[in-house]
Amino acid sequence: MSIQVAVNGYGTIGKRVADAVALQPDMELVGVAKTRPNHEAELAVENDYPLYAAIEDRVHLFEEAGIELAGTVDELVEAADIVVDACPSGIGAENKSLYEAHDTPALYQGGEDADLVDVSFNARSNFEEAADADHVRVVSCNTTGLSRLLAPLQEEYGVEKARVTLVRRGGDPAQTGRGPINDILPNPVSLPSHHGPDVNTIFPDLAIDTLGLKVPATLMHTHSVNVTLEDAPDAEDVRELLDAQSRTFLVPESYDIDGAGKLKEYAMDRGRPRADIWENCIWSESISVEGDDLYLFQAIHQESDVVPENVDAIRAVLGTADAEESIQRTNETMGVGF
Ligand code: NAD
Repeated sequence: MSIQVAVNGYGTIGKRVADAVALQPDMELVGVAKTRPNHEAELAVENDYPLYAAIEDRVHLFEEAGIELAGTVDELVEAADIVVDACPSGIGAENKSLYEAHDTPALYQGGEDADLVDVSFNARSNFEEAADADHVRVVSCNTTGLSRLLAPLQEEYGVEKARVTLVRRGGDPAQTGRGPINDILPNPVSLPSHHGPDVNTIFPDLAIDTLGLKVPATLMHTHSVNVTLEDAPDAEDVRELLDAQSRTFLVPESYDIDGAGKLKEYAMDRGRPRADIWENCIWSESISVEGDDLYLFQAIHQESDVVPENVDAIRAVLGTADAEESIQRTNETMGVGF
């Protein structure tokens, strides 16, 4: 029998995870839970995803909007083998007791604290550690992007120290209340930003310093990366290594892609759903080695890089595939890899 998956929280991340789960031959989407009958609720109904009310007192709002419900979130969690919580930061922590009451393992997203869970997860880096865990956090978009990059570098050359400046989008395109709209903010002003310690939830012993900025952009984050390696390769070796990873896209110089705008255009041209870019986008010609120091730029699509990771985390927790099988199946079904 296929894995019965529930998605609680059907927003930016939740709707993408639901679509990805629905594509998996070994999974069935039991349903999605929403708090409000908005356009996304209509979308769930159109997709034939059973819709559950996340808050019992609001059932009448769905009835008034003419949207049929399959039940409440309690019933959804009870019916599932695993639940993906994609609620706003902090709400996942509030939902933990619900999942525990039904003895249903849960995946949370990067906005939750690391100490909420047994394991923080990145498929390329620590897939096996999630086996049998009750509470797993799929790390944030930025930590996912950094983990995918650092895992092969660590294995192949050893990392003496990583230093990363994260130039972050002010908000997602639909987050109309976010900013800045005309500024460049060191954020946080004091070091380190939370990203380095978050990477350490995946690689506990890795030396990493991170600095963050926020800029008036919505499309993607950009990382300026410097990694001091123990065993220095030449740039071409690093290019080959990163090109061989299944969730990195080495942007060729000849593509004339100079930033996030053209990357999103490329994704649209390639027919990607929602113009999603699940891969780290690493500018090939930015990969440089000076002495022991590797430098590169990568762009991260914050709304989608964690989606294949959630799919893999489901198999990792339930032990239905190993890392290689799961990553390959997820990539094939979703079309990851340009
Ligand atoms: P979002 O606001 O787009 O979506 C969250 C959804 O959950 C909304 O539809 C909201 O109505 C719903 N919701 C609110 N309270 C709920 C409840 N009690 N029960 C069920 N549903 C509820 O948020 P998002 O961007 O999808 O973020 C979700 C999580 O993913 C956060 O932890 C965030 O940090 C993390 N994350 C977000 C991004 C990103 O760029 N958007 C990237 C990586 C990780």
